[in-house]
Amino acid sequence: MDVAVSMPRAADLLAWYDRHRRALPWRAGVGERPDPYRVWASEIMLQQTTVTAVKPYYERFMARFPTVAALAAAPSEDVMQAWAGLGYYSRARNLHACAKAVMELNGGRFPDNEEGLRALPGIGAYTAGAVAAIAFGRPAAAVDGNVERVMTRLFAIADELPGARPLIRDKVLTLLPHDRPGDFAQALMDLGATICTPRNPACGLCPWREPCQAREEGTQESFPRKAPKKAGQTRYGAAFVLTRADGAILLRTRPAKGLLGGMAEVPTSEWRADYELDGAAQDAPLALRWTQVAQPVRHVFTHFPLELTVFTGSVPTPTPAPPGMRFTPLADLAGEPLPSVMLKVVERAGLFRIGPKSGVHL
Ligand code: SF4
Repeated sequence: MDVAVSMPRAADLLAWYDRHRRALPWRAGVGERPDPYRVWASEIMLQQTTVTAVKPYYERFMARFPTVAALAAAPSEDVMQAWAGLGYYSRARNLHACAKAVMELNGGRFPDNEEGLRALPGIGAYTAGAVAAIAFGRPAAAVDGNVERVMTRLFAIADELPGARPLIRDKVLTLLPHDRPGDFAQALMDLGATICTPRNPACGLCPWREPCQAREEGTQESFPRKAPKKAGQTRYGAAFVLTRADGAILLRTRPAKGLLGGMAEVPTSEWRADYELDGAAQDAPLALRWTQVAQPVRHVFTHFPLELTVFTGSVPTPTPAPPGMRFTPLADLAGEPLPSVMLKVVERAGLFRIGPKSGVHL
């Protein structure tokens, strides 16, 4: 359908932001200079986690590690302990590695552009764009899920994600005001989080309601369009079987919701179609010498096949479990709610033989 709408203007979004910006602990006040360390740390914490969940952790983390130098100098156990509860622990390891790299490479100064930031551990395209724009005022696009939603609605972009991402990025760069790129990035985040929500967007309160093509057509909730997940695409990952000298194995409990909810497992990486084994060390629960088992474990779930590469490692007896995990005596393993894929993993690690009926035998 052809619709006659005006072009969106950054000035309208910024005027709205000046009145309605969220007060967030990592945000610089009006007229204040943003601290790149605080901006970067908040962006890493916010990956895969909500603002509400991050706020209390962020405050405590900053009180404990007020500078990048303090974070880089801290023992990794302290960093993991301060992170405990935020989940996705590879982010905490990357955060610590990145702080050390910033100290070693630049004497504690973060690179002030996207390219330099992207070269650091754990910093992808979105985080590099966000930090470059917010902390250094660079005209960079920071495109996350919120921004994808706003832009596909604003311009009624019918191309499916992820293929539409370059076009979305171009649209953001077209609108981006060179005098306030950091505020523009934060304004887009706020608009997506508070007004242009996935369900029932509050279009009546939106500073871009006039130029918004999806609002004009009444098709807001049909954006963004997503390519259907390919059924049956194999996912890959790494599983880490860690034993302690006293005969205990490291386990954790899966989140209550979702696949195998609430069941026990050895620590694993994410399971993804594009998982790269080269980075498996980053996903390990502890930094130590891991041995890769030759044959991976294959398992078929209802919607996808899974291939897990098994790594084994051992630690001395006083070693405590990392946050969110536990050491379970091998003798008690039969009492753990291990799904069959995990029974295959521990068997592949050479610890057990899976019995015909009763599960695990030592
Ligand atoms: S008018 Fe509605 S759909 Fe369009 S950008 Fe604003 S909130 Fe989103």
